[in-house]
Amino acid sequence: MAFAEQGGLPSLEILFEHMADAVYLLDPVTSNILWCNRAAYADLGLQASEVLHHSVLSLQKDVQGLPQWADIAQVIRTADCYTFVGRHRHQDGGEIPVEVNTTHFNHQGCDYFLSVARNISKRLSLDEASSTRDERLRFALEQAMDGLWDWSLLTDAVYFSPQLKRMLGYGPHEMTPHVETWKHNVHPDDRDQVMSLIDQHLRGRLMRFEAEYRLRNRNGHDIWVHDRGQVCERDAQGRPTRMVGMVQNITDRKLLELRLEKMASIDDLTQIPNRRSGMAALDQQIALSERSGGPLSVGVLDIDTFKSVNDRFGHAVGDEVLYRVAVLLRQTLRPSDLVYRSGGEEFVLVLPAAGRETADAIAADIHAAFEAKDWEGDLGVPDVTVSIGLATYPQDQPQLHKLLDQADLALYRAKEIGRNRTCRAGDLLAAPAPSVSPID
Ligand code: GH3
Ligand code: MG
Ligand code: MG
Repeated sequence: MAFAEQGGLPSLEILFEHMADAVYLLDPVTSNILWCNRAAYADLGLQASEVLHHSVLSLQKDVQGLPQWADIAQVIRTADCYTFVGRHRHQDGGEIPVEVNTTHFNHQGCDYFLSVARNISKRLSLDEASSTRDERLRFALEQAMDGLWDWSLLTDAVYFSPQLKRMLGYGPHEMTPHVETWKHNVHPDDRDQVMSLIDQHLRGRLMRFEAEYRLRNRNGHDIWVHDRGQVCERDAQGRPTRMVGMVQNITDRKLLELRLEKMASIDDLTQIPNRRSGMAALDQQIALSERSGGPLSVGVLDIDTFKSVNDRFGHAVGDEVLYRVAVLLRQTLRPSDLVYRSGGEEFVLVLPAAGRETADAIAADIHAAFEAKDWEGDLGVPDVTVSIGLATYPQDQPQLHKLLDQADLALYRAKEIGRNRTCRAGDLLAAPAPSVSPID
């Protein structure tokens, strides 16, 4: 008996419910799932309520955040059918490889995306079974790595694996297969170094090409990659003609490294460089002046009677004052100057290319900025003043490595003769010797 005789065709909804592929109706702006069929949640081990009215981004691992979604949505709107090969998250923590075909349409004045996601894990393993050894090897590598590339040095054509494209947020049919596409995505600050490493490998000076650098994804964000490549074919004269490589996304590790590096070099309280990194930067400036003979000034700055702030208003207010002092110093100094916290309530100013006159003017600006600030109004503390000791190479101190000690001595002098002032190392000899009061 034909089905029609049993009471007519099943409704569209029933047909959709029984489809093997997952179907999602999406709001292009919010990325929310407005409707979906059973496969769309059951295949991921989820309930309908865990999927409906949630962002489609929560289901998958490749598009991160609404800005990237907005970018992709723009491409979907201009394409007849947008294909994306990605991974969906399964409730049990695993991932399912999917090919998602998305179309767009307008219904009664509203825009919609219709995505059909097909689980391609079976197809991938079938492909694997039927492929040649070479293809299988490539398949295994593609699965193991975040991306592969294969560069013909004769034509500059490059094969970018779907994983590599996915890593950068592109669909499998995007990214022009040319070396310029890749060069364009390498962060401008890293490009020269990466190209030089490749060049050295091609000339035979390096066994292989290996680099960590930033690649720009379609969203305009940088991801850190570890890229390794090697020449795999040469012509009769031994000139390289083909190079292949593997890319791994190391963004998480790199960001953690950078954060730890920053934590190790930035003072927690004031958010300016700490003594360790500040001293290293000072050493660099000293080396530069040594080579060029150009002037360099160093200042040591100490907050006056700071202990009384702690005593009267508590340590927390003292901390706040320290933070504000660092902000004020940063605002007053030139962009090329460096200020670091050398400890307690003491800061060091490194003023590259500043002769006496410039350094004196900067110190005067600092005193003026402290005076102009409304400490009472902002923090409820009396006016904060500072004392500064300055030393300038070569006028005050021809030995560069003694600059800091000389500035320190000058600070001592500034404290001694009344605080809230700057003293300079070169003036110490001319200044009257401090009077020594007899100890009772
Ligand atoms: P002077 O004008 O001679 O420099 O007097 P002073 O009171 O500033 O100098 P002193 O060396 O006697 O006191 C420095 C104070 O700085 C003592 C210490 O409690 C305080 N201090 C050091 N580090 C911190 C910090 O991280 N937070 C706070 N709140 N206080 C700090
Ligand atoms: Mg002090
Ligand atoms: Mg001090």
